[in-house]
Amino acid sequence: MALTDPAKRLRAIPPYKFAELQKQVADKRAAGIDVINLGIGDPDYPTFPHVVEAMQAAVADPSTHTYPSNRGREEFRASLGDFYRRRFAVEIDPESEVIPAIGAKECIYNLCFAFLDPGDLALASDPGYPPYTGGPLLAGAGSVLLPLEPDLGFAPDLDKLDADSLERARLIFINYPNNPTGAVVPDGFFEQVVELAREHQILVVHDNAYSETTYDGYVAPSFLATPGAKEVGVEVFSLSKGFNMTGWRCAAILGNADAVSSYWRLKTNVDSGLFEAVQLAGVAALEGPRERIAEMNEIYARRRDLVVGALREIGVGVEKRKGTIYVWAPVPEGHTSTSFAELVLEEAAVVISPGSMYGPSGEGFFRISLTTTDERITEAVERMREHLG
Ligand SMILES: *Cc1c(COP(=O)(O)O)cnc(C)c1O
Repeated sequence: MALTDPAKRLRAIPPYKFAELQKQVADKRAAGIDVINLGIGDPDYPTFPHVVEAMQAAVADPSTHTYPSNRGREEFRASLGDFYRRRFAVEIDPESEVIPAIGAKECIYNLCFAFLDPGDLALASDPGYPPYTGGPLLAGAGSVLLPLEPDLGFAPDLDKLDADSLERARLIFINYPNNPTGAVVPDGFFEQVVELAREHQILVVHDNAYSETTYDGYVAPSFLATPGAKEVGVEVFSLSKGFNMTGWRCAAILGNADAVSSYWRLKTNVDSGLFEAVQLAGVAALEGPRERIAEMNEIYARRRDLVVGALREIGVGVEKRKGTIYVWAPVPEGHTSTSFAELVLEEAAVVISPGSMYGPSGEGFFRISLTTTDERITEAVERMREHLG
């Protein structure tokens, strides 16, 4: 073994599938080609001004300069409780049912270490956010993929799980509105998950990164509003996407008090909490006017319509879905996810994400992110129409 060889757990993580594509993009840019990147899901508009102003004031307040309380500032926990009551009609006890997280990603990863031992399994939506499978691997456990079925509105068919998986599973990761498919939760699915969790003693982790980012009048529910949800699960709520705050690392875990407490216990060993100025900025975001969110959603909806329209014109059968910042579409006949992404890059100098990046069930699809300016998105779809039409 060489002295720089990483541990087995790190070697077990599959190589980043996007790396080859990224290299091609870098080569093209180096050759002076104007590449438009529709791969990354990261809001292009700045954080709302009232949040930035609250942060400026909070940074100037010395009470935020010490180590943060790992349980979170009272104001932030209380405002998360208020937000959940107002927005989702869910009652949260700020004392025992909520802890700030340094982004949803940290929370998902640490939940794996809090709940998974070697030999245990996590059930993971496929296609899905990569930490649902990477987290369990790093924790020395395994995962079982839950293929999202287009015919079921991109819910998994829970009846297909085998007895051994159900016996060994300790966590289930679900996410609606869903990245990468843009689907919203099908009627009755959260209820089914609560039933499964009860019967097989599996802790539900609902990744709520997109509840505020929805279109066409759709309002996304919290998983915790499902009867019985708090007995079997937690929700990870992130301010990253809905409040244009990806850089701020501002999120929280809410729900089952015992599970929240175990997460907290693990976390006190790993990090020292979320900068309290960020927590106060989070309060401003949660309590601020909703007009800004509505404006963002109008912008994304317009871009979605633009992209869907252009794709349909070049023969891609794509549906308009009601949530997230992505369009998820089938690749044209004769292509794999990767070969189509390469073609689009080669012909149109546009980067799209191959669906296979998000798991085996993403094969045959590609993802376009709506977080680029209207002008660039228009230019990208023009190029695709011109070169692939
Ligand atoms: C973007 C995204 C997150 C990111 O959350 P952070 O709070 O920025 O770490 C989590 N889950 C999904 C499904 C996402 O798409």
